[in-house]
Amino acid sequence: MNGRVLLLGGTAEARELAALLHEAGVPFLSSLAGRVARPRLPVGDVRIGGFGGPSALANWLEEHRVAAVVDVTHSFAERISASALQACAAAEVPLLRLERPGWSERTGDRWHWVSDLDEAARLVPQLGHRVLLTTGRQGLAAFADVDSWFLIRCVDPPSVPLPARHELLLDRGPYDLAGELALFDEHRIDLLVTKDSGGSHTQPKLDAARERATQVIVVRRPPRLDCETVSTPSKALGWVASRRSERVGTGTR
Ligand code: NAP
Repeated sequence: MNGRVLLLGGTAEARELAALLHEAGVPFLSSLAGRVARPRLPVGDVRIGGFGGPSALANWLEEHRVAAVVDVTHSFAERISASALQACAAAEVPLLRLERPGWSERTGDRWHWVSDLDEAARLVPQLGHRVLLTTGRQGLAAFADVDSWFLIRCVDPPSVPLPARHELLLDRGPYDLAGELALFDEHRIDLLVTKDSGGSHTQPKLDAARERATQVIVVRRPPRLDCETVSTPSKALGWVASRRSERVGTGTR
């Protein structure tokens, strides 16, 4: 494997994998969508912005002699993952998906699973009056007509219609339990709405909800794509290393 590895990022795991590849001396390039104003950057080279869809990504992979792609985008970033699957098949570039495990309920949790943000929005009025909404700024329009009070926590200011009664909290994790409990208490939160993002960075809100016996609406992940998948950056490093040793001396990228 002579070319570089393309790492589709925008997650903590993508930054961890970048650090591991850097340490191992593997040539790679990280790609970010450019959604947040001040992204946390991984070590190594970074490009920012969309590719222009699956065909354009396939051309990009060929032009840049990409040897392998690791898709470490967020579980809810459906379009880029679908695009990577299609582009890698077309360009005959190996693809690995690194996906952190989702969250699962523990004793004391009061969770309600829903399929999407619209279903979450329909359920809110039945469950709570003072809602901590942590689903990211892009899908907030789904809640615009809900007549509950919302504390909307997201990284950058939203540019979509918002519920009439809300307060905006611009913040980014990682969070801790003490801070989340203080937030729940200060705002008298009686309902949490979250996506099943998984991982430890934003989990303390779920621990706080359990401690306060607060109900939680959890948006299920979209269906997985049919692609080889691992759950940790170190397993992804192992996959890259094995591709490299397979290809050494064959002259293939
Ligand atoms: P999305 O709907 O799947 O992607 C929309 C478009 O953005 C894609 O079609 C692609 O444009 C471009 N794009 C997305 N990720 C890219 C990347 N890593 N490098 C280059 N282009 C990328 O994704 P999203 O939900 O808007 O998320 C955008 C980014 O934020 C992702 O990288 C994701 O990892 C991160 N993120 C998302 C969430 C979430 O809840 N969705 C949460 C945390 C972080 P083209 O079609 O033009 O190539």
